[in-house]
Amino acid sequence: MAYDPDNIFARILRGELPSTRVYEDDETLAFMDIMPRVPGHVLVIPKTPCRNLLDASAAQLAACMATTQKLSHAVMKAFGAGGVTVQQFNETIGGQEVFHLHFHVLPRREGDRLLPPG
Ligand code: IMP
Repeated sequence: MAYDPDNIFARILRGELPSTRVYEDDETLAFMDIMPRVPGHVLVIPKTPCRNLLDASAAQLAACMATTQKLSHAVMKAFGAGGVTVQQFNETIGGQEVFHLHFHVLPRREGDRLLPPG
């Protein structure tokens, strides 16, 4: 499937839409999800075009995973969480709504309720 260069996350990357950026390096960006499903819900994306896991390169996946691990430690500390749930959706049938590869980092606390996607 084709990559749409005007998807929301591509526009965030270009600075055309606002976001709350929490981490950035040469390959990846992390920012707060606009509709957090738990407190501290962060999204990790590659800076280069990629629709989803199905067309990601090994380099994009490696960079995203390294950032996802860093952010997992960071949000656990910042939000007093004991663990983290990482989620990732592919194509509409797989639950994907924004078509730029992203990983949800969801800090988890005892007794919390992870809201469903969407
Ligand atoms: P998915 O494509 O189903 O994995 O989910 C897309 C995610 O992007 C949802 O959790 C949305 O709340 C989030 N989202 C959509 N627009 C924005 C935005 O402008 N800033 C931050 N998060 C967004």
